[in-house]
Amino acid sequence: MESFGTLLMTEVGRSNSHLSPRTIARHDPATGGFVLTTPDAAAAKFPTNTAHPALPKTAAVYATLEHGGEERGVFVFMVPLRGPEGRIAGGARIVPAPETTGLQIDYGAVRLDGLRVPYEAWLRDGAAIAPDGTFHDPAGGAAARLTRSMAIAPAVWRAVISASAAVTRASAGMLLAHSAGRATLGRLAPRRALTDYRNQQEAVLGALASGYELTAVAAHVQARRTSATRPAPNAGGAAGDAGPDTAWAPWSAVDRDLALLKAAATVQAAETVSACRVHSGAPGFAAAERLNAYRGLTHAYMNAGGDNELILYDTARAMADLDRYTPPPAVPGPPDGGDPASPAVWRWLAGEAERRLRDRLAAAVAAARDAGADPFTAWNANLVLAARTAAACADRITVEILCRALDTGPAALRPVLTLDALNRIDRRAADLLNEGVLPPGALDEVWAARRRVCDELAPRAGDLAAAFDLPPEITAPAAFLTG
Ligand SMILES: Cc1cc2nc3c(=O)[nH]c(=O)nc-3n(C[C@H](O)[C@H](O)[C@H](O)COP(=O)(O)OP(=O)(O)OC[C@H]3O[C@@H](n4cnc5c(N)ncnc54)[C@H](O)[C@@H]3O)c2cc1C
Repeated sequence: MESFGTLLMTEVGRSNSHLSPRTIARHDPATGGFVLTTPDAAAAKFPTNTAHPALPKTAAVYATLEHGGEERGVFVFMVPLRGPEGRIAGGARIVPAPETTGLQIDYGAVRLDGLRVPYEAWLRDGAAIAPDGTFHDPAGGAAARLTRSMAIAPAVWRAVISASAAVTRASAGMLLAHSAGRATLGRLAPRRALTDYRNQQEAVLGALASGYELTAVAAHVQARRTSATRPAPNAGGAAGDAGPDTAWAPWSAVDRDLALLKAAATVQAAETVSACRVHSGAPGFAAAERLNAYRGLTHAYMNAGGDNELILYDTARAMADLDRYTPPPAVPGPPDGGDPASPAVWRWLAGEAERRLRDRLAAAVAAARDAGADPFTAWNANLVLAARTAAACADRITVEILCRALDTGPAALRPVLTLDALNRIDRRAADLLNEGVLPPGALDEVWAARRRVCDELAPRAGDLAAAFDLPPEITAPAAFLTG
């Protein structure tokens, strides 16, 4: 705890700055080190957690390496940005941002003006500048180098998915604590329990189910390895061999599915946390800061750690181009008479939706290109379809994870994961109906199945929450209201 990390990647003035940072690290042959410079205000690094006046901070700065008058790709440089007592390094300027409430961090903008670092500050990952001054990088080109320099991302995505699961579990536990035993005074049935009403019951059980799903996804991504950045290029491996080419952001090239699951998990967590807040009424907003803070966190990470929309577009483009992607095969169906509670049906629906959306997207973009449209125009007309196509891919991967959890986990998981799968079909109904995967009226069956599984789960809600093993203070009622 002698110094705290901070990542200086995003530049404030342009979108998609990760693809081409304008911060320069110029090699200085006289010293062998590098000189870091922000060319103008638009290239300032923001947001960063650097504004705290008293804390030492060590920065990982993303910069374009300039050597011998040529740009050599994007690398990371370690900079002791704030030393003991928070003293700012010579050549650095930190402008604190005004305080915010969404996700409270010591946000600051950082500009570098001729800040010098030694050769060893270069996280060179196999690249080198030889004593005779020649530059060597085994990565195999600027695109592969950028992908390798973004290799921190999978660790971030695993953490974001795990945090999304954690706040979802906590929110579900808080909603259950708010709802259980609460009486209502509605005139249809005075003093009836709040959770006897389907809306609240389905919100509580659905939030618990969402917590189980995200926990399964988090466990899946912990176990999964990223191959795009392994092995190191100087160990003879090919760089960038797992991810597709990208146009919007570097993320999918690092690990397409992990980036996609980060995008899906943050959305799912944000929706669940928001629903828990609303269904917890005023106490969920005003009695404790927790649900508001979780909302801020999940909302922020739709941009942070790789912008969700850009990840969806790059995923969809890889899908349309069949770039390291194979669509799910066409399978006649639905199986099991279309019973929406059947895992075979979840798989079939997810696979069909993904394949049909992909085919339509690929055809629409190809038609536009054939008609003479440039790539921007062809894709720009299809961004809604692209986002939905990538979301369908995320759904199919998630359904596969759920089905594996059913196969290998305890039998008690079956109803709770069934509820989650039914909620997923409900959420995706627009696409399923638009693509003709589900016929009109199918949602009535989904809702009926949901009522049945909620009846089965309702007596076990406490057990489902207890298995989350939440610290007691999370679900305790606000002391100032109960005293
Ligand atoms: C809370 C928080 C903490 C962060 N922490 C850090 C940090 O510590 N270090 C760091 O370096 N960065 C950090 N970031 C920055 C984060 O990586 C960026 O916010 C994110 O990549 C989006 O970039 P941007 O802010 O420049 O917005 P923009 O790129 O301008 O995006 C704004 C909107 O435009 C859309 N958009 C942008 N470009 C395109 C395009 N080409 N086509 C279609 N749509 C587009 C996006 O999808 C988004 O909806 C943080 C962000 C947040 C919100």
